[in-house]
Amino acid sequence: MLSENDFELGEVEISTPGKGEVLVRNVYMSVDPYMRGRMNAGKSYVPAFELHKPLEGGCVGQVADSENDKFQLGDYVLGMKGWREYYISDGSELTKIDPAIAPIQSYLGPLGMTGLTAYAGFLEIGQPREGDVVFVSAASGAVGSMVAQIAKIKGCHVVGSVGSDEKVAWLLEKAGIDAAINYKKIGDLTAALAGVCPEGIDIYFDNVGGRHLESALDNMKPFGRIVLCGMISIYNAGQRQPGPANLFVAIARRLTLRGFIVLDHMDKLMQFYSDMSKWIRECRIKWKETIIEGIENAPKALIGLFSGENLGKMLVKIGPDTGEF
Ligand code: NDP
Repeated sequence: MLSENDFELGEVEISTPGKGEVLVRNVYMSVDPYMRGRMNAGKSYVPAFELHKPLEGGCVGQVADSENDKFQLGDYVLGMKGWREYYISDGSELTKIDPAIAPIQSYLGPLGMTGLTAYAGFLEIGQPREGDVVFVSAASGAVGSMVAQIAKIKGCHVVGSVGSDEKVAWLLEKAGIDAAINYKKIGDLTAALAGVCPEGIDIYFDNVGGRHLESALDNMKPFGRIVLCGMISIYNAGQRQPGPANLFVAIARRLTLRGFIVLDHMDKLMQFYSDMSKWIRECRIKWKETIIEGIENAPKALIGLFSGENLGKMLVKIGPDTGEF
């Protein structure tokens, strides 16, 4: 398990922007479960963080100084240089965002990689049909809450599992899904799922792995699809974990299990923006944020993802959003 002692807050001098460069003052940064994987040595789909170097991650900020014609003072930008208050960029990795369309931090949530993960993972990999029974784990989290509501928009019967009664209430009353389970209160998740999905599950959107995956497998309908998005329950495991003991079910019931990484679905970005902003305008997508203040508390925010301290997207507010820079 991560601890705050694994992090160090450093102070360094930052230069003024040279020709073609901009100085960005971060306002919000994202903390995401995948960052835990970047703290392990070895090969993966993103390189490991390096010791004693600043971490990275999604962030939104304001241009505080510019020597680049494409960016004016005060422009809001989306970047990947989180975990710091200021940074210099040549602009190539920055995307301008419009604060008039949505609050700036939503470009790290429903209108950002989180939203695209849910959109591409559920629609492309899950291949939903109207009337499908959909089970989502970590269903009130950043990705899960989007999947659950997109599934409702597509006419599915949606069941979620979460780790608190407050989260159950939000899913039922605000997100409008059909049933929700507090897995921390339920001894036998397989039986609980059978209770809320008596005819079985067509699509399981897996954010958790482990016990959740095993229980979902037991309840899948023949020819069901399992979208392997994340396995947060094993990210802090010190050693390789055994696979689901009932994987044979995948053969017996002719299931499809398919993993995906959002970065392979950037071609859907424009369609995603168009659909998601329409759904938000129509109030068909709701979202929550858990905002921790201060860069010194960013480790606490990241660690909190693994004990379920967030409802919706976990964010860190690094600086004021006052228009001053
Ligand atoms: P969330 O906002 O869902 O936060 C994580 C949540 O996971 C917590 O709030 C907690 O909710 C739940 N959780 C934590 N530990 C456990 C556990 N041991 N067992 C069960 N639930 C647990 O994070 P994200 O929405 O950012 O990410 C969700 C998943 O999606 C992660 O697995 C992540 O790695 C994956 N992901 C994959 C991407 C891809 O491209 N494939 C891209 C982005 C994310 P609760 O209180 O309900 O337990």
